Amino acid sequence: MSAPADCDVLVIGGGPAGHGAALTAAAAGRRTVLVERDHSVGGSCVARGTIPSKTLRETALALVGFRKRSGGIFEVPLREDLQVASLMVRLDQVIGAYQAALADQLTRAGVTRVHGRARFTGPGSVELVGVRGARTPIAAGHIVIATGSRPRTPPEVPVDHTHILDSDSILSLTYLPRSLTVLGAGVIASEYASIFAALGVQVTMIDKGERPLGFLDPELTDRFVAAFTASGGRYLGTSSIGSVAWDGEQVVTTLAGGGVIRSDKLLCALGRIANLDGLGIEAAGLTPTARGLVAVDARMRTAVPTISAAGDVVGPPALASTSLDQGRRAVCHALGMDTGVPPELIPLGIYAIPEMSQVGLTEAEAITRHGSAMVARVPFHDIARGWISANQDGFLKLVTDGRGRRLLGVQVIGEGAAEIVSVGQMALIGGHDIDLFVANTFNFPTLAEAYRVAALDLVARRPA
Ligand SMILES: Cc1cc2nc3c(=O)[nH]c(=O)nc-3n(C[C@H](O)[C@H](O)[C@H](O)COP(=O)(O)OP(=O)(O)OC[C@H]3O[C@@H](n4cnc5c(N)ncnc54)[C@H](O)[C@@H]3O)c2cc1C
Repeated sequence: MSAPADCDVLVIGGGPAGHGAALTAAAAGRRTVLVERDHSVGGSCVARGTIPSKTLRETALALVGFRKRSGGIFEVPLREDLQVASLMVRLDQVIGAYQAALADQLTRAGVTRVHGRARFTGPGSVELVGVRGARTPIAAGHIVIATGSRPRTPPEVPVDHTHILDSDSILSLTYLPRSLTVLGAGVIASEYASIFAALGVQVTMIDKGERPLGFLDPELTDRFVAAFTASGGRYLGTSSIGSVAWDGEQVVTTLAGGGVIRSDKLLCALGRIANLDGLGIEAAGLTPTARGLVAVDARMRTAVPTISAAGDVVGPPALASTSLDQGRRAVCHALGMDTGVPPELIPLGIYAIPEMSQVGLTEAEAITRHGSAMVARVPFHDIARGWISANQDGFLKLVTDGRGRRLLGVQVIGEGAAEIVSVGQMALIGGHDIDLFVANTFNFPTLAEAYRVAALDLVARRPA
C-alpha cells in the first residue's frame, strides 16, 4: 500500500504500542498511517516474544498439568532427543493467524498500512525507505515512535546464538538441553527459566537481585521461587557475573564472588535496548537517554511537542499490554482526548510457571500511601476449582484500605492468575468496595470465587 503524502497521525512500528496508537487515532477520525519495516504487523511481540514463548509454555503446562491432574498415575517422560520445534508444532499457525487478525483490525479501523523503514528528516517529517530502496517523504501532524526493542548483550556475555543464546535465539535450539543457565531475573528470564524447568531441564537463574521480578509483591515472587525450586530449578540471587565462556563442551559461568556454574546452554536475558538505529531521531530534535531510550513524560510526550513515544522504546515495564496502553494514551493526550483508565490500574501479567499477576497497590504501597491497609489471602486449596485443576498452590490476595472496605489492589499467583486479576481490575476502575464481591455470585467452580471468599474474610475482620 502506498503512503499518502501527509496524514494527521503517523505511527512508526506495528507492534502492540503502534497498534494501540493507530487504532486510537483512526477511531478519533484522524487520517492515520502506520509504517512497519517487517512484512507483517504484530512486532517482536508476535514474531519473537510473547506469542512464541507462550506457545512453548502451553506445551510445558500441558505436561505439568497432566502429571499433576492424573495424581501421579501417569508418568510422561520426554525423549532424550526431543526437538524443541516439536514442542511448538502449532507456532507458525498461531503467529500467522494472529498477524492476520491484527492486520484486519487495522484495515477495518481505516488505518493505512505502509511497508517500509521510517527515518526522521525533521520534527514533523519522515522518509519511508521501501523494500527496493524507494524513498517516500511523508509529513504528519503528530508522530508516535513505537519501534520496540531487542535483546541487550553485555560485553561480558559472548552471545553466539548456538551455546550462549538471547531471547531471540533461544527458541531456535534444536534439542532440549540437559542444563540451562539463565542470566537475569526479569519477565523474560523468569518465564523461560520456569518453562524449561517444567520441561525437565536443570535450570540455574543468576541475578543481582535478592529475588526475581523485583517489581512484584514479594509474596508472589517468594511463592514463584518455591515452585521453581520444587521443579528442580535453582535461583542464585545477589550474584554478579564475572565471565561467561564456551569451553568446547559446556558453557562456563564464573560468578564475580567465586563459584562456577556449568551448563549445556545459557540464556542471556539481561534487559533490552531500544530500536533507534537508523531512525534518525536527532533530525527530529531528540536525543536518546544514557540508556538508549526515548525519554517521555507522563503523557508519553517527548521533548518535541508533536512527537510521542510508547512501548519498549521508552523502557520498563516493557510488556505488550502496557505498550498497547501507552500507545493508546499517547494518542489520546496528543489529540486532547480523555485517556479513560489511569495507567496505575493496568495489570501486570507474568506468564512464568506458575503465572503471576497484580493490579493496583501492593500491601506495602497501600500502607505507604494510605497509612494502613487490610489484607485477605485465599489459597486456591480453599477453592473447589483449585483442587479440580490441581492448582491448589496458588492464592489470591486482596488489599483494601484500613477499614477493610475500599479495594486498593489485587495480587494472584497460580494458573489463570492473569485472567482472574481482571475481575479485581474492573472493581478498581469502578472504585468499588469489596462488598461487591460478597453480593455478587460467581460461576461455580471457578477460581474467581476466591474474590468472594477473600471479601467475606475481610468483612468478618472489619474494625468496629
Ligand atoms: C520472550 C519474550 C516474552 C514476552 N512475553 C510477554 C508476555 O507474556 N506478556 C506481555 O505483555 N509482554 C511480553 N513480552 C514483551 C512484549 O513482547 C513487548 O513489551 C512488546 O512487544 C513491546 O511492544 P512494542 O510495540 O513497543 O515493540 P515491538 O513489539 O518490538 O514492535 C516494534 C515494531 O517496530 C518496527 N520497527 C522498528 N524500527 C522501525 C522503523 N525504523 N521503521 C518501521 N518499523 C520499525 C519493528 O519491526 C517492530 O515490528 C515478551 C517479550 C519477550 C522478548
